Amino acid sequence: MLAEMGLSPVWRLRRQVDAKEKRWIELKKAVPACTACGLHKGRTQTVFGVGDEQADWLLVGEAPGAEEDRLGEPFVGQAGRLLDNMLAAIGLRRGENVYIANVLKCRPPGNRNPEPGEVAKCTPHLVKQIELIEPKLIVAMGRFAAQTLLGTDATIASLRGRVHRYAGVPLIVTYHPAYLLRNLADKSKAWEDLLFARNTLAANP
Ligand code: URA
Repeated sequence: MLAEMGLSPVWRLRRQVDAKEKRWIELKKAVPACTACGLHKGRTQTVFGVGDEQADWLLVGEAPGAEEDRLGEPFVGQAGRLLDNMLAAIGLRRGENVYIANVLKCRPPGNRNPEPGEVAKCTPHLVKQIELIEPKLIVAMGRFAAQTLLGTDATIASLRGRVHRYAGVPLIVTYHPAYLLRNLADKSKAWEDLLFARNTLAANP
């Protein structure tokens, strides 16, 4: 701290950027090496997250599925294609001012729901990602993302349509794209949520 005080603002900024890069590198090593829960035994690889590391938008899903486990990238299966289309509809693209991550970095076997112990062990990785990205808006997609980030067991239906906060960052809750594939009637609600998210970001630049 004392050493920082004598530095010019440019040098102080440089130091902060360097510290952040170091933390990214550490996290990108820690996640693939993680054996904190049993899911590591069945994974092909961890699925860290993808996108612009300085994005305004952070989208958080649940856990990798089979395709994601195979390719190492979140939301690359059918649900991912729907997500990409929904993003495109509001002028966004994966990787451009958007970062996509999951609560769990490893695939639960048979695409079962994450267990509370797995969520508890994996959440610190997501927390670090959020600290490093410093998004201006978080969109929690589905029950597991919403409940984990908000520390609640409330339903998606009761959490939608309001601006929540995660560590001061506005957070919007919406349906998980995989749920929307099975419940087409709720697609219009997810569309409303995305518009609400876009307006929320515009109001909190
Ligand atoms: N569902 C998720 O929640 N995340 C993925 O990466 C893929 C499907």
